[in-house]
Amino acid sequence: MPLYNMRELLHDAHKGGYAVGSFSVANLECVMGVIQAAEEMRAPIIMQCAETRLRHTPLAMLGPMMVAAARHARVPVAVHLDHGATIPCVQEALALGFTSVMLDGSTLPIAQNIAEVKRVVALARESGAAVEAEVGRVGRGEDGSDCPMAAASIDDCLAMDDAGIDAIAVGIGNAHGLYAATPELRYDILEQLSGKLRSYLVLHGGTGLTDGQFVKLIGLGMRKINIATDIFRAAALAPRTDDIFRNITDGAAAVKLVTQKYIALFGSAGKAE
Ligand SMILES: [Zn+2]
Repeated sequence: MPLYNMRELLHDAHKGGYAVGSFSVANLECVMGVIQAAEEMRAPIIMQCAETRLRHTPLAMLGPMMVAAARHARVPVAVHLDHGATIPCVQEALALGFTSVMLDGSTLPIAQNIAEVKRVVALARESGAAVEAEVGRVGRGEDGSDCPMAAASIDDCLAMDDAGIDAIAVGIGNAHGLYAATPELRYDILEQLSGKLRSYLVLHGGTGLTDGQFVKLIGLGMRKINIATDIFRAAALAPRTDDIFRNITDGAAAVKLVTQKYIALFGSAGKAE
């Protein structure tokens, strides 16, 4: 099955009233686990890696593995650069065949954020890739660095939507990493945005939300939900032996299990047909 453009997957999710899981991967076991989960459940998925993590696993090595896994998958898979911070990294991802890139300008003033995103939109158009932007701020950096949450302003979201993006991550009280307590999410922001955007809504910081919160978010139009922490923990906590090949199989199986839980919750099981 060919690689899919992310916008296409989100468009189908919108029509079908479900969300597509966007699962972060850090190594071979993660890649194999999320693909196996998607294939077994006949679910479309997005596979992603964040720029800040690439000091551990260079994009020149991890990226081709992700693209190859997506090309060989028996379900639709989009390959996405999460939290792109620099234009060279975005360009590298596009050159490797990623079908979606995020430019995270959430720490910039909104006008500057939009200007940076527009540069990426122009680059992505050349290869037909989708673009995700962030408005407001998701709490804590993707790599756990200190960074306060900021709720998205409706006007800022509408202005960013006009930049020609395909997906928009909105700060609604969500955060990366593990939540100390279940967060209070600003559903009112999603209600106000309802029907006003041409881009699709994205939730970062999915690990640790309740089943009820996911159901409510999807009902309010959330179409891409990022899961990173639970994938990383599943791979890291899988049983280890002195047999590396057994470890790879067990690691992938642990990732598959946690991925399947989210696919079921997001309503995307069986949607690959
Ligand atoms: Zn994120």
